[in-house]
Formats: sequence, structure tokens, C-alpha cells
Amino acid sequence: MEEEKIYIVGAGLSGLIAALELEKAGFSPVILEASDAIGGRMKTDEVDGFLMDHGFQVLNTAYPEAKRYLDLQALHLKNFEPGAVIFDGKDSYIITDPMRNPLKIVGMALSKVGTFLDKIKMFTLTQELKKKSNEAIFNEPTVPTHQYLKEYGFSDLIINNFFKPFFRGIFLEKHLNTSSRMFEFVFKMFALGNAAVPEKGMGQIPSMIRRQLSKTQIYFSTAVKEIEGKTIYLESGEKLEADRIIIAVQPDKVMKQLQGQFAPARQVINLYFSLQRSFMARPMIGLLPGDHLVNNIVFMDDVSKAYSSNGRSLLSVSVLESQLSESELIKAVQAELESISGVNAEYFKFIRAYHISYALPNLDDLKYSIPMTECKITDHVYLAGDYLLNGSINAAMTSGRTAAEAVLHSYMQTH
Ligand SMILES: Cc1cc2nc3c(=O)[nH]c(=O)nc-3n(C[C@H](O)[C@H](O)[C@H](O)COP(=O)(O)OP(=O)(O)OC[C@H]3O[C@@H](n4cnc5c(N)ncnc54)[C@H](O)[C@@H]3O)c2cc1C
Repeated sequence: MEEEKIYIVGAGLSGLIAALELEKAGFSPVILEASDAIGGRMKTDEVDGFLMDHGFQVLNTAYPEAKRYLDLQALHLKNFEPGAVIFDGKDSYIITDPMRNPLKIVGMALSKVGTFLDKIKMFTLTQELKKKSNEAIFNEPTVPTHQYLKEYGFSDLIINNFFKPFFRGIFLEKHLNTSSRMFEFVFKMFALGNAAVPEKGMGQIPSMIRRQLSKTQIYFSTAVKEIEGKTIYLESGEKLEADRIIIAVQPDKVMKQLQGQFAPARQVINLYFSLQRSFMARPMIGLLPGDHLVNNIVFMDDVSKAYSSNGRSLLSVSVLESQLSESELIKAVQAELESISGVNAEYFKFIRAYHISYALPNLDDLKYSIPMTECKITDHVYLAGDYLLNGSINAAMTSGRTAAEAVLHSYMQTH
């Protein structure tokens, strides 16, 4: 077994899980990673006493794959308070736990966010989805989420003030055109689990998987240029002969014949500011309904103190679309922050921006899982990555395992 050369392209979550599963079966795979670190889209930088995730993202504790691969206790997860602070012009109000305890939403906030009927509908949906398996959710016919919400009978008030800003920040698209399957899945996860970040940042998640690897070698700064048959051509000009290859990146990047077969990605801009003190002072997401540059905000040190060790508060701001130059964008965002908080724009000290051009795959046909046969493209080349299923941590992990199983299966047939 040891002599079989299995290469994995990409050290994101899917590549790391594929390696872990191959190790469990006795193999010693080699990961080829273009960048200088593991984690792919899930990384945390340490800058001037702040921890900055590459884009605002959370782990949902109800993800089945998170329970399988992560020691949630050892991550020292810090939970968000369920619900959201809605910034509506100069006013702000809190909607507590709408997806787990909708009947507890307090009357006053509800009157601004939705109707009494919305509260009942929220409750019914919560009950329905909790009982529905993830596979069943992804086997439903798909309609755009905005249509689904209308057809379910939610009012325009709650769609515009809660669902739109909340789910835009998750789907990373403005109009809720994302499939109702993803809506149901995410809603169910929020109904069952907590949104959380590891105490010391999202980068702790891939690090925890890497620590479980003992026989896998990772070559950093090793970008794959092209794969042809069993040969891997590196950007450096070197070539490697493989026995099996798992491509844990969108494969059109490394296989000419697949170019043009994948939809463009969804992007997001994540800006970080520091402020003397959080103006929210609670571990909650802040939403800006309507037409703003800013979609959502969070003071990360309200969620986990370790995100700031220099005494200032760290504000993470997500912007979905902008044609502005970076300096114009910073000014415009500071002005919006002033308008919702009353804190003078100049007090929001800009730290850095992450322009994430590939944040989520833009998929029409979302899946929860695929049979092993579907990730095999030749006898030697297999696919992994969230783009095969749906854009989530859960999907990336599932896809890594499926690819590893397919490789193992191929050996069972040839030996
Ligand atoms: C801003 C943002 C917010 C998100 N929010 C959430 C959330 O709240 N909840 C959730 O569940 N999910 C969220 N996600 C999605 C989640 O992060 C991804 O689904 C997951 O990390 C994808 O892992 P992956 O292994 O499929 O791909 P990637 O992480 O993209 O890994 C691919 C790896 O391959 C490497 N690579 C690329 N090209 C080459 C090459 N030619 N040669 C060698 N290596 C190469 C890359 O450097 C990278 O390390 C979010 C993502 C982003 C960016």
C-alpha cells in the first residue's frame, strides 16, 4: 500500500479530510498546496493584536460533519447569541432567536420586523425542518429562496427586514436567488445548533484536522498547473507521476478539458475596523436591511475576547457588491457606520480589507452528497471540494470523504 503515490491538490478543508480518510486506510498521501498555508478559504491572520478571519464566516454546531471530524470542546467555541440586531435607519431593535424559539420573539420587535402570522409561520417551519432529514431537504424541487418565502406565506415585512439581510450574508448574493434547498438546510442548522467561532479564529478548524494527520506530507508553494492522465505538471516546471489524484480545488483550474464547465463564484469584501468600544456590546450579528453597501456587521471581540488583545474592539463588516475604489469604499462604509451608530465616522479606524473573489461556488443544482462514482473522472483522477455539493464547511468535508472512499474503492477493485 505504501508505494502507491496518491496526490491531493489543495489543502483546504476538503483536501485535508480526504488525506485523513486515506491515512485511516493505511495510505500516506501527499498534498500539493499553491499557497504557503493550509485552510484554503478558512484562514485567520494575526495583525497588531487582532485576529482576522479571511471573510466573516461561522461554524454551525449542528453540522453533522463538524461533529464527526472536530472536537468541538477543544475548539473552545464561542457562540453567537441567536437572532440579530436590526439597524433600521436611526433605530435599532433586536430579534431574538427567530429560528429556534420563534414564539419567544418579543412583541415590540416583532411589530417592526414582521406580523403575528410570521411568528406562527416561523414556528411551523422550524418544526417541519427539524423533522426533515438533510437528504430529504436536498431532494426537494428547487425554487429561488425569495419565491419559497413568499409561497410559505411570510410577509414582505419579515422578508425585507430579516430574511433578506440575514440570508444575503450567508448566500453572498443580494436577491435570495439561491436554491430553497440551501435555505432549508441553513435554517434547519440554525434551528438545531449554534453559530459559533473557535475562540482563536476560524483558522483553528483546518489546523485541528491537520493535527490529526501523521503520515501526510504537505508541499506548500507548490501550485499545480495542469493534470494530464496520471501526470501532474507544476507551475515550477517540475512534473510528478501519480497513481491516484484527488483534485480538491475547482478542477477547471488544473484540467483544460473542464474549462468553462463551472459557474462563476460569489464574492464578498470583508473590511475590518477598530473602535474604542463596541457599540453593540453583545455577541450578535448586526443587519442592515434595505439598500446599503454594508450587509452585516459583527464586533468579533464581543463573540470571542481573544479576537482583540490590544484593548480596542474589532469590527468585521461584510460588503457584497461594490464598484468603488478601496479608499472610496472605506469612506462610504465609515459613513454608513456613523449613520447606524451615531459614532463619528472618523473613529472607525480602518485596519484591512479582504477582497475575496472566490468565496462561494455559484451553483444551481445543490446536493447534500453524491455517490462515489460521481466524483471519479478517470480511473486515476477524483474530485473533492464544496463546489460539488453546496458552499459550506459541511459540504467541503463530505466531499473530501467521498473522494477518499472512491479512491479506496478503486484499489479494492484492482487488488
Ligand atoms: C467569506 C466566506 C464566508 C463563508 N461563510 C461560511 C459559513 O458561514 N458557513 C459555512 O459552512 N461555510 C462558509 N464558507 C464556505 C467554506 O469556507 C468553504 O465551503 C470551504 O472552506 C471550502 O473548502 P474546499 O476545500 O472545498 O476549498 P478551498 O478552501 O478553496 O481549498 C482549495 C485549496 O486549494 C488550493 N489551490 C488552488 N489552486 C491550486 C493549484 N492550482 N495548485 C495547488 N493548490 C491550489 C488553494 O490555495 C486552497 O488552499 C464561507 C467561505 C467564505 C470565503
